[in-house]
Amino acid sequence: MIKRYSGQFAVGKISRFFSHAKYGKNKACKRCKSRVLHRLNDDRYECSKCQYRFSVKTNTYLKHSRLSLDVWYELLWWFVYGFTANKTAKEIQLSQKLVHRCFTIIRKALYDYEERNIKPAFGTVEIDETYVGPKFKNRRKKRREYYRRVDAVKRGRGAKTLLQPVFGFYQRNGTVYVEFVSDAEKKTLQDIIKGKIVLQSKIYTDTWKSYRGLNKKGYHHKTVDHGRQEYVKHTRGNKVHINGIEGFWGYLKEQLLKHHGVRRSNLIYYVKEQEFRFNNRHLSTDKMVNKIINILMNSTPPDV
Ligand SMILES: [Zn+2]
Repeated sequence: MIKRYSGQFAVGKISRFFSHAKYGKNKACKRCKSRVLHRLNDDRYECSKCQYRFSVKTNTYLKHSRLSLDVWYELLWWFVYGFTANKTAKEIQLSQKLVHRCFTIIRKALYDYEERNIKPAFGTVEIDETYVGPKFKNRRKKRREYYRRVDAVKRGRGAKTLLQPVFGFYQRNGTVYVEFVSDAEKKTLQDIIKGKIVLQSKIYTDTWKSYRGLNKKGYHHKTVDHGRQEYVKHTRGNKVHINGIEGFWGYLKEQLLKHHGVRRSNLIYYVKEQEFRFNNRHLSTDKMVNKIINILMNSTPPDV
């Protein structure tokens, strides 16, 4: 591996970034509680008193990984800079499969983190839906023929679609939340709104019919009519528009294009990765790397 970003640190230092994220200042032997430990060459620690050995990776997202922490550290920089697994693999001379597997672990950790940290939205919230996934013309010929036969190629809201519908909102404090939905019908969307957005909030949407009736449900709902070229509406000092969430859709799609076709089962992780990036866009690269190290080391993961 070529150490482009991790080369500036001694291996012991990188290992400390990870163990500090996990234990803080409370690193001690699991068995005898002694704090006199020494680090072995493979990112494990050995208690100087009772010789018990333990790994900093236990109970973390890295628990199944045999890669050393300096490899993980290097990969994290490439990930945060937004490089694809293939590009990263080529640049630092690791196998594509390996880098891909690591990036998937990172994405799943970020997904869990985002899901765990949802706070009810309030204030002024812009709501919209979109579709993600490969374009019909880019699909394999056999699949295209199949889709035509079952009449599933119509696009657009309400129509059968091959693309994945995504619901999302942008709180005017600058955070977004997105989730995959089965359809863009009224019940589906309004159930999410009820569950995730505090009553009395100001809700701005376009004129899609699924958003009708939100005023009666306890929200202050205003719409902009894109069909009539209406993009910003000024009412009583409020700027009614959904430019925030639409801006996020643009950003999301641009990012997804980079990866040239993501497997359907993994698509949600790529989408939530972009939610995470967007919500943490104020962080510098090294702060973002640190934040992800904390996420990787600090939550008991479901089996990854
Ligand atoms: Zn011990």
